[in-house]
Amino acid sequence: MDKAATAQEARTGSPLSAAEIAEYREALLDKREELTGQVESLSRDAASSTEATEHSKSPLNIAENASDTFEQDFAFLSIESEEELLEKVENALERIQEGGYGICEICGKPIPKVRLDLMPWADLDVNCQQLEEQGRARRNGGEFEILEDDGALGNSAADDDGAP
Ligand SMILES: [Zn+2]
Repeated sequence: MDKAATAQEARTGSPLSAAEIAEYREALLDKREELTGQVESLSRDAASSTEATEHSKSPLNIAENASDTFEQDFAFLSIESEEELLEKVENALERIQEGGYGICEICGKPIPKVRLDLMPWADLDVNCQQLEEQGRARRNGGEFEILEDDGALGNSAADDDGAP
């Protein structure tokens, strides 16, 4: 409940105007509401179809229930991705409060507005998103780490004295 946001509001560090941030915040809150509703109803569906298949584990019933099982798997998959998205939305709302919203979490550059318009929860620009998807950069307990250094981002002074 205690917010230490007073000093932090001064250093928003965001390339976006307060009005723009307010708009993205609205979009994120809407999305969060929508996702919360979806995750809840999907959980209910998945739980009830699990119950249904619990009764019929005998091999004879497997073919008969194949379509149920398919629906159940599908429901679980959906929950996963909706929950992932929900987490991103909540992280973005946190960044709005803390002041890093609209900044790529790997390279620190502003995330283009066209991208935020499509995905207000984006925390990486396209370039770093690709690096992450290719496994060349990774999240490390909320931090990001570039695993491969082509010199493209090389402005680090600590390059030369790395002990083996
Ligand atoms: Zn980046």
